[in-house]
Amino acid sequence: MEPLLNFIDGTFVPAEGGETLNTVNPATGEVITTLPRSKASDVNAATRAALNAAPAWSATTMDERIRWLDTIAQALEDDAETVARLESMDTGKPIGLARNVDAARSVANFRFFASHGRQHTEPTFADHGAVNHVHRSPVGCVGLITPWNLPLYLLTWKVAPALLMGNTIVAKPSELTPMTANHLASVMQRIGFPKGVFNLVHGLGPEVGQAIVEHPEIRGISFTGGTSTGRIVAASAAPMFKKMSLELGGKNATVVLEDAPLDDIMDGLVRASFTNSGQVCLCGSRILVHASLYETFKHRFIRAVEHLIVGDPSLESTTMGSVISKAHQEKVESYIRLAREEGGRILTGGVANEAPVEHVSPEGAFLRPTVIEGLSHTSRTATEEIFGPVVTLHVFHDDDEAVMMANATEYGLAGSVWCNDGERGHALAQRLDTGIVWVNTWLNRDLRTPFGGVKQSGVGREGGAWSLNFFSEVTNICVQDP
Ligand code: NAP
Repeated sequence: MEPLLNFIDGTFVPAEGGETLNTVNPATGEVITTLPRSKASDVNAATRAALNAAPAWSATTMDERIRWLDTIAQALEDDAETVARLESMDTGKPIGLARNVDAARSVANFRFFASHGRQHTEPTFADHGAVNHVHRSPVGCVGLITPWNLPLYLLTWKVAPALLMGNTIVAKPSELTPMTANHLASVMQRIGFPKGVFNLVHGLGPEVGQAIVEHPEIRGISFTGGTSTGRIVAASAAPMFKKMSLELGGKNATVVLEDAPLDDIMDGLVRASFTNSGQVCLCGSRILVHASLYETFKHRFIRAVEHLIVGDPSLESTTMGSVISKAHQEKVESYIRLAREEGGRILTGGVANEAPVEHVSPEGAFLRPTVIEGLSHTSRTATEEIFGPVVTLHVFHDDDEAVMMANATEYGLAGSVWCNDGERGHALAQRLDTGIVWVNTWLNRDLRTPFGGVKQSGVGREGGAWSLNFFSEVTNICVQDP
């Protein structure tokens, strides 16, 4: 494939220093192509372009920007199969998942924010003979930094509201998954999107990401990634009083109450555990099961997990592909070994040597879905984010114990409760220290709702009005007739 380039001021350009990195297909170990290894000078050039484009873009009406979002959505939808193929190749996720989740949601993000913008009105407050008008303006040039697990899905989740509110953008995707961000840039070029409004700089996090975070004229940072990187981002951006949104890691609990209808919910539980090889920040990686149900649950769950078809991501029949890289495979395997040291029993799966995946490239980063029991809920395996196809099972005896165990991590992103009584599930959900809880469902997303974590899972919320608030500044204008 053609080498990828940065997209600055509407033009594809190499890094100023000419250096490149490889992007690798993790299912085969093959190099797909190269991407620029950019530096601060490239971020400076992208920021200059974004600042130059800002006056004209911020002067457009909301209606004009909504029309652009719809045009981008249509162009991405026309290219959906290409997007799915690129995403599958770059991440190792099954083509069906890339099509139904990544490609579809990237289109939906633009359509949703277009529609949300149409319904958006500002309040006015009248009192003391005066009328207060809420006036919204863009933050300015914003930096968008995204991870590798849902590359275009998460990038467009930020790009669409940022554009809607009149901001200009310098974006950096993960250097592991640059392909679809590049495709978005090519879509922008094809539809004649105004130059300089959307800029893309590829490269390494500590070089390009850090330069974006530190750039004094980038006034807002929307970051999605790991908690330890989020800490570095916050340490740099906070003293500059930048607007900051941090969507970070998780160690989510899946709580199965004693009346849970196992036949009906088993598919949902497997999906919540192993979608995208467990590399979704919202995946449940600790399953807490009521003691009365534990043995039955365990056997049925393992049977269902063993039905997952792990293999070549390009095949329609594959339900679980590779993990993101060999390095990540080794990290996940180190946790499986740790689990053994901590007293865990592997019920299915395990490290690749012991539980090999057949009919895939030996260079591919494949693991079988792994289920572990016998660990304390406070063990490292059960409290640290593994971000791979590994779940641990734990027993609880009553609701209080389930809540205590669910809340016993430093994270607080998401969770799910499975039971026969929605009201009871709803009541228990309110006791979980997380930003999102699903009851008898998982990854059921209404894009108007607040999305984000508590504790070390993040700061701020995205989605609907929350995204519009992040990507704008508000001024209250109080008018009294003379
Ligand atoms: P990561 O290593 O933290 O990287 C995220 C992004 O930050 C990448 O683009 C990375 O670039 C960049 N980066 C690295 N160092 C940086 C620095 N010093 N300054 C600025 N940017 C920097 O995370 P990841 O491994 O890609 O993704 C997995 C993590 O993301 C998991 O913890 C997962 O839970 C979390 N996640 C959270 C959510 C959520 O909504 N809460 C959603 C998805 C994923 P490079 O890739 O080039 O290093």
